[in-house]
Amino acid sequence: MTRVRKAVVIGAGFGGLALAIRLQSAGIQTTIHEARDLPGGRAYVFRDKGYTFDAGPTVITDPSALEELFALSGRRLADYVELMPVAPFYRLCWEDGDVFDYVNDQAELDRQIAKRNPADVEGYRRFLAYSEELLREGYVKLGAKPFLDFGSMVRAAPQLVRLQAWRSVYDKVAGFIRDEHLREAFSFHSLLVGGNPFATSSIYALIHALERRWGVWFPRGGTGALIQAMVRVFEELGGELRLNSPIERIVTSGGRVSGVVAAGRHEACDMVASNADVVHTYRTLLGHDDRGRKEGARLASKRHSMSLFVVYFGLKRQHPDVRHHTVIFGPRYRALISEIFNGPELAKDFSLYLHAPTRTDPSLAPPGCDAFYVLAPVPHLGSADIDWDVEGPRYRDRILAYLERHHIPGLMADLDTCRIFTPFDFRDQLRAHHGSAFSLEPILTQSAFFRVHNRDDHIANLYFVGAGTHPGAGVPGVVASAKATAGLMIADMGRTP
Ligand SMILES: Cc1cc2nc3c(=O)[nH]c(=O)nc-3n(C[C@H](O)[C@H](O)[C@H](O)COP(=O)(O)OP(=O)(O)OC[C@H]3O[C@@H](n4cnc5c(N)ncnc54)[C@H](O)[C@@H]3O)c2cc1C
Repeated sequence: MTRVRKAVVIGAGFGGLALAIRLQSAGIQTTIHEARDLPGGRAYVFRDKGYTFDAGPTVITDPSALEELFALSGRRLADYVELMPVAPFYRLCWEDGDVFDYVNDQAELDRQIAKRNPADVEGYRRFLAYSEELLREGYVKLGAKPFLDFGSMVRAAPQLVRLQAWRSVYDKVAGFIRDEHLREAFSFHSLLVGGNPFATSSIYALIHALERRWGVWFPRGGTGALIQAMVRVFEELGGELRLNSPIERIVTSGGRVSGVVAAGRHEACDMVASNADVVHTYRTLLGHDDRGRKEGARLASKRHSMSLFVVYFGLKRQHPDVRHHTVIFGPRYRALISEIFNGPELAKDFSLYLHAPTRTDPSLAPPGCDAFYVLAPVPHLGSADIDWDVEGPRYRDRILAYLERHHIPGLMADLDTCRIFTPFDFRDQLRAHHGSAFSLEPILTQSAFFRVHNRDDHIANLYFVGAGTHPGAGVPGVVASAKATAGLMIADMGRTP
């Protein structure tokens, strides 16, 4: 009789859930241990006074990757959750009153671009062609391929050279487009995955083509409904999700993982995959092991993505003029981004992303009300020593006053509920190194082979999935990382007696 193979996944973020579904679909008995009281990780859900706030991801792209995940066990994503198209994809606003609606309609895009600079219409077309090539080479071909050895990097090198991957996103965009606002409009995307547009590899300009090809979507019921759908499939397949179950230790013996410890109890398994922060995994969960100490110290010294400051708020009145996704550029772009990524303190100005989910799904707030979140990228705790217990409420008030002045009149008088999430919460609730919102910064020297490998180099049955691994942060990224990691785990499982 064949022995039932058992895997443990640490963490129920998008990556952990996608991996667990893949393992369970392949017949590997899988248990997810999640430290918090709800699944989702960055995609946690807060519920206050009848408002539903998705804590993190709101721009859902590449639904085909999610459909593929459900199809593994003959299911249809659409039977579990409805994805609704969002239009415009984003509204972009500048302080001088300029507004650009980033839509998936070429004629309308051309019209808005031509209004700023006619020559940029042609420049944009060339940028889109470049972005589409990046999408094919960097995401479709290599996104879900594990980079375990240097040879894999060497094989990808000719494409990376041809696509000028060493240049930054902004640098490449600026080569195609002259208008400064348009340069910002087509380069800010790397911020969505924790990348500085002035430092991140131009490969990340692929996000633009990804959105144009597959659209921007929002699940009915919010991103939390998508997480619930993934949990449902996983459990229907026989998997087990244990909430409030922080893993304290990954147990090793003879250079292999033999199990995990949760609530002081040892649980044996054949393989472990961590969806938790990569520094936390090596330094804390494997801190008793030489490999854990060394790799934890090495990763801790790498460049980590910025953190975020988020305000979730409900208003007693609706604001139909505010689009579902609004990017609000502050007075500075390059200098502000440099301060966000390098500190040493909180900048006086900010750029914001405003989320108004009730534009697409009114059920996320009580009747007649609007749910919002607004986020500001801020330095992580390693580059700016800010006491967020003190600064958080002050910063919240500054941001809300700004929104009231420029975008949501009467905001303070209509405020029904409000909560904040600071870099301290990323550190303490999500165990993120330096409170980083997106794990390792996606610069070229920390990407692909140079990112945390989907399988550890020394401990053969220890795996990683999620933002710290290849290909990186963002929902499409971590879902692709789950495909890469599952491929390794299923193949390895087949090889071990
Ligand atoms: C505010 C915000 C907005 C974002 N917006 C977007 C967006 O619009 N679109 C997009 O594509 N991406 C977005 N992102 C990025 C995206 O959300 C993340 O990259 C992605 O969700 C990370 O998934 P993950 O699989 O790495 O796991 P995570 O979400 O990081 O989850 C890891 C899980 O591991 C658990 N854990 C940690 N330690 C332990 C332990 N010891 N034991 C057990 N469990 C543990 C944590 O509690 C957590 O639940 C956003 C991120 C943030 C923060």
